[in-house]
Amino acid sequence: MERRAFLSQGLVGAAVLLGPLTHATAAAAATTPARRPTRTEPPAVRLKRPLRYAATVHEVTRRLRIPRGRWHCMICHHSGLNTGNATTYDRAHRRRGMENGLAYHFVIGNGVDSRDGHIEIGQRWLRQINGGHVQSEQLNEVAIGLCLVGNFEQTRPTPRQLAATLELIGCLRELLGPRLRLVSHTEAHPGHTRCPGRYFPMDHLRQFYG
Ligand SMILES: [Zn+2]
Repeated sequence: MERRAFLSQGLVGAAVLLGPLTHATAAAAATTPARRPTRTEPPAVRLKRPLRYAATVHEVTRRLRIPRGRWHCMICHHSGLNTGNATTYDRAHRRRGMENGLAYHFVIGNGVDSRDGHIEIGQRWLRQINGGHVQSEQLNEVAIGLCLVGNFEQTRPTPRQLAATLELIGCLRELLGPRLRLVSHTEAHPGHTRCPGRYFPMDHLRQFYG
């Protein structure tokens, strides 16, 4: 367990977030022989091939042979800085006392200190260990941390960053299961943080991955 959390996160947020994950539509299943899509299920989106941004993530993740249920959701963050990459954030997080370094599982570059739309895979993903991107350890155990480089209180993500993020989300859903939910940091912990910023197009992402 991390000694110090990177960003604070309430248990209330975790409970709200995790609640629907285990919510089975028992009543519907009892009355209808064929299982129908419900409002709690995300839309089915097929990844376009060939993958432009997430090919390495797909290949690496496929080989990790991750059991279904290991991860419950993906949480979107911004870094709050227009500069940096996985290596510089790793150093910063270690300086803050995080023994496992980089708090996120993935970092998506904006073209300043890594290629625009380049997805960096963190050690936490390769080792399949908990994130450190929210304060709640309960949530860190099941939430994949996606961080886009930038401060989206001031600017928007680049088109390539967004395209890469969409592909990454689709890739993770395809490999880990369609119930992997997508939430923003502020949705996971309302009133506590503005991350990933007012210009982060959560609604746009949700059109594809609810
Ligand atoms: Zn955040």
